[in-house]
Amino acid sequence: MHEYALVAAIVDHLLDQLRALGEEQVLEVRLACANGVSEEAVLQAYQATTAGSPLEGVPVRIDTVVRTLTCGCGRTREATGHELVGRLFVCAACGAVLDGGDAPDLRVVELLLPDPPPPG
Ligand SMILES: [Zn+2]
Repeated sequence: MHEYALVAAIVDHLLDQLRALGEEQVLEVRLACANGVSEEAVLQAYQATTAGSPLEGVPVRIDTVVRTLTCGCGRTREATGHELVGRLFVCAACGAVLDGGDAPDLRVVELLLPDPPPPG
């Protein structure tokens, strides 16, 4: 599954980051996911890949980002709805098939960590 590989890579990255920071506790993970990527699949993959890790059970917030694509015919539009087939986008003006653009399918926006204890 496409989403699974994306999420597994992101979870690896987050766990590395947590180890580097010496943090065990995360309040929330915020992800941005391109439209066309299934949020449900992302959440399922997240649950599967974080099981047994410090990220297990941490709430995830997913914002959907709409990709904008420019076709060779000069048409620019948001890649949404029926024109979007998986990662592929079919230009409604000329019928050309374009790849899903340069925006990443899934990326980490923010990792919310608990406030550090007050000094003293
Ligand atoms: Zn076109």
